[in-house]
Amino acid sequence: MKSPGSVLLALAACCGVLTLAAAQTPVQKPDLPVEKWTGKTILLIGAHADDDALSHGTLAMLQAHGNQVYVLTLTTGNVGTQDPRLSRLQLADIRRQEELAALKDLGIAPDHYINLGYDDGMLEFEDHKAVVENLVYWIRKLRPDVLFAWDPGKVYQRWHKADHRAAAYLAADAARAAMWRLLFQGQISQQGLKEFTIPEYMFYNDYDFQDENLWVDISAFEEQRVRAGSHYISQFGPGWKNYNPNPSEEELKAMKALVRKGIRTRDGKPIEGFRYYRGLPDAIGK
Ligand SMILES: [Zn+2]
Repeated sequence: MKSPGSVLLALAACCGVLTLAAAQTPVQKPDLPVEKWTGKTILLIGAHADDDALSHGTLAMLQAHGNQVYVLTLTTGNVGTQDPRLSRLQLADIRRQEELAALKDLGIAPDHYINLGYDDGMLEFEDHKAVVENLVYWIRKLRPDVLFAWDPGKVYQRWHKADHRAAAYLAADAARAAMWRLLFQGQISQQGLKEFTIPEYMFYNDYDFQDENLWVDISAFEEQRVRAGSHYISQFGPGWKNYNPNPSEEELKAMKALVRKGIRTRDGKPIEGFRYYRGLPDAIGK
């Protein structure tokens, strides 16, 4: 009988073989280039309202090409400031408004933004089962064709700051759990949901790009990424230390320049890079 436990045992029993097989596995690629995707449901899971900014060009493109894009943020971001005047509640509210404004610039509707409301900075100390159950609920409800998430690591665990590390593993754990009918069974027997296996993954990262195997040309969506990113006034530029909801023209220009500077290039084109993975979530880290 197949169960999560027996799969883990099977993995443990033959990990030598798996390692060998992984080393020989050709680089995975989507059947169709991301630029041609349409009609798909896309879910991005991040820890903070702005983790999605690393993928804004790709999300804008997917949205423009007739895909349904959802962004799920685990925390309210209620700690991320160096401005001594802001309270947690104020910051949570500011960051929600910033995120909704950014998503609007990408063409993503406010009801496609889901925030699970956990405290910023403490994600790995939350009740993991409860967080995974919450995520499984949304995975089973939205049934995404593709999950965007922080990269949990291909061979070794990635070094991320705490919430990103937790979000990487929680997203992967939820993707695994969502496929098991007998896990969180109440969602199925009482809430009308069904188990679901996510077929494709796009893992993002913020500084260690060695595992990337897919680069999306965002030339046509670069300006949208710049506009969207310039809404995170509390996070970048002078607002980090001295928040002002109405920045001057000059400050806004500087914000846009900062976002533009963060866009990577490859062969002279603006890109966003990912580790693409396809298959059962049991081998998500391999
Ligand atoms: Zn973050």
